[in-house]
Amino acid sequence: MTPTILDIVVWPDKRLHQQCDTVTNFDTEFLEPLSNDMIATMDHRLGIGLAAPQIGKNIQMIVMFTEFKDEVAVNPITMINPCITSSSDELFEWDEGCLSVPGYYEFRKRPKSVVVEYNTIHGDFHTIELTDLWAFVVQHEIEHLAGYLFIDDLSPFKKSRIQKKINKTQKRNR
Ligand code: ZN
Repeated sequence: MTPTILDIVVWPDKRLHQQCDTVTNFDTEFLEPLSNDMIATMDHRLGIGLAAPQIGKNIQMIVMFTEFKDEVAVNPITMINPCITSSSDELFEWDEGCLSVPGYYEFRKRPKSVVVEYNTIHGDFHTIELTDLWAFVVQHEIEHLAGYLFIDDLSPFKKSRIQKKINKTQKRNR
């Protein structure tokens, strides 16, 4: 089945600020096509990570790439109920952005390596260690599942600037 490119929920939509539900029923007939659609959508929008609330699904599910090959992001994985179990003291800096906050980037530091426990779409239990950019991405995506965005702690002034910029881009794309 050809995957569907899904619409991205754009900030300040309130669906981005909800705690997502834990997945307890590993219904692959639902989760597998959703996983494929999310990966295709992430790839199509040139993202390297995407969380379920960003496509309007209020569940603990993320997809992300895990490697670059010839400067192209490859090897996507899907994580259900992801949870960070340890993180390094050493930090990694990256120009953070988000498909739900188009056009806004900000340099931020996050732990350079993390261990993440998660379920596959079949309910199997996996552990993965991610470093550098990929550790950064998984932390960003897991925050989405708690209803948190990387711009949440900015000043109201900065947020209104971002909002204006987004409005302009959305108009241009219409
Ligand atoms: Zn994001």
